[in-house]
Amino acid sequence: MVATLLSLFSVFTKTMADPRKERTFIAVKPDGVQRGLIGEIIKRFEARGYKLVAGKLLWASKDHLRNHYKDLADKPFFNGLVDYMSSGPLFAMVWEGKEVVKMGRQMLGATNPLASMPGTIRGDYGIDVGRNICHGSDAVETANREIALWFKPEELSDYEYANKPWIYE
Ligand code: ADP
Repeated sequence: MVATLLSLFSVFTKTMADPRKERTFIAVKPDGVQRGLIGEIIKRFEARGYKLVAGKLLWASKDHLRNHYKDLADKPFFNGLVDYMSSGPLFAMVWEGKEVVKMGRQMLGATNPLASMPGTIRGDYGIDVGRNICHGSDAVETANREIALWFKPEELSDYEYANKPWIYE
């Protein structure tokens, strides 16, 4: 019993301490799905060396989206944002790897595509802020909340990339 608890604790602390286990929530928004960009966005995260641990196409309800964006509830664009995000299916994902939250945001670019550098997802594919292709968690705590909101624990796959030593030193 004690040995089991100790080994569970050791797995837990290793996972917590390993920066390569950081996770973020990334979603290809309905405009990105309609424009055929799911593969392009997956390709960018894969090519960088990040690992996909969950992914699904779903048509989110307005209630779910109001909850997801609850911090923006007092913004004038809130209702339009919920309408846009519920206007078609989106592709929800969880990506894992070192500093994936911060790098995911950099790979997305600025909220407004017109302020995003070419080379970023929004800078390469978007024009309007209300059609900005892709969502990415803005902090580790937000990522944990969003992952729990969009995925059940059993939908997240814990596995190792065979090429991990070629990505991390
Ligand atoms: P981000 O998605 O970059 O984290 P925010 O959390 O500030 O940005 O906003 C959430 C989403 O709300 C944006 O991605 C965008 O789709 C939408 N949004 C933000 N600002 C505006 C705006 N001024 N007008 C319309 N939609 C907006």
